Amino acid sequence: MRISDPRIVARLRELEVELRPGATLAGLTSLGIGGTTDLLRIRKYESIPELLNLLDANHIPHKFLGGGSNLLIRDGELPWVVLQLVCPEPDIVLEGNFAHVDAAADLGRTVTFCAKHDLGGMEGLIGVPGTVGGALRMNAGAYGMQIGSYVREVKLYRAADRKIEILRGHQISFEYRHTSFAPDDMMLAVTLELPSKPFKEILEGIRICNEKRRASQPLGQKSAGCIFKNPPGASAGRMIDELGLKGLSVGDARVSDRHANFFVNAGRASAKEMLALISDVRDRVRKAYGVTLENEVVVWNA
Ligand SMILES: Cc1cc2nc3c(=O)[nH]c(=O)nc-3n(C[C@H](O)[C@H](O)[C@H](O)COP(=O)(O)OP(=O)(O)OC[C@H]3O[C@@H](n4cnc5c(N)ncnc54)[C@H](O)[C@@H]3O)c2cc1C
Repeated sequence: MRISDPRIVARLRELEVELRPGATLAGLTSLGIGGTTDLLRIRKYESIPELLNLLDANHIPHKFLGGGSNLLIRDGELPWVVLQLVCPEPDIVLEGNFAHVDAAADLGRTVTFCAKHDLGGMEGLIGVPGTVGGALRMNAGAYGMQIGSYVREVKLYRAADRKIEILRGHQISFEYRHTSFAPDDMMLAVTLELPSKPFKEILEGIRICNEKRRASQPLGQKSAGCIFKNPPGASAGRMIDELGLKGLSVGDARVSDRHANFFVNAGRASAKEMLALISDVRDRVRKAYGVTLENEVVVWNA
């Protein structure tokens, strides 16, 4: 979708929103898949309510992009624009055991920055690409920990109220790859409370997690992490592996040889091919185990 009305373009400039016409989303996602649309980069968070009023008034649908590491986006010209926060400086401010972090901050950098100040707990998140906002949305986690356990406060734009609000930790529920945020809530910043730990100890935890990832995941290939959530008490990757589906392909979309729940773009895979592969694997697992796997990857196919 293209914004060409000069009045809207001028208003975006006033709101300090940078308009990047015709951005290719394949270049902004870790899967390397996705069509083309206008990208709106937001510098001044206070302008978000006005920005969304402007888009709504002009019937311009939108979606919200973090670091693009958990997304499968359809091909071709996209029927909506994409909003993305520009990371301010500084993006992390520490105050005792509290870390005030911008939603656009890089998650890995946040983990290491806090570690250098003897704040631990998030070692498992090292190697999870993307932004802190994206991690909050899905309650990112690994190796027995999840970001939600450390959340004390979230500043967000609530589309339902059309304003920026603050939610305390107890007002939000964080479950396995699921949160109680509304689908159109936009996370802007978070306060994490992290346990004190000596840097050396955190570093050792990070080293162990890095090693586990390197040993089990196709890190050099284009992927979106796990495609499916694990069903209660089971492992999606193990079920796919047991069915001998590693290496199964549709065009350039392929089940990783290394980790059966990682589907990789082995060349120039299209969204259509990746969706066909996901659907094929889901059908085979349903037939064999009677379990319907739920997507962990967020699909923008509309
Ligand atoms: C190699 C690899 C390994 C991975 N390992 C893990 C893992 O161990 N554990 C894990 O949990 N995940 C893992 N992931 C998946 C992914 O990195 C995480 O889900 C990450 O937190 C997504 O953040 P993002 O900023 O890239 O979000 P995006 O992919 O940009 O967006 C994902 C969803 O979050 C929404 N979103 C993003 N930012 C915001 C915001 N500020 N406000 C509101 N909504 C927002 C988007 O609209 C979209 O619906 C892995 C991915 C890869 C490629």
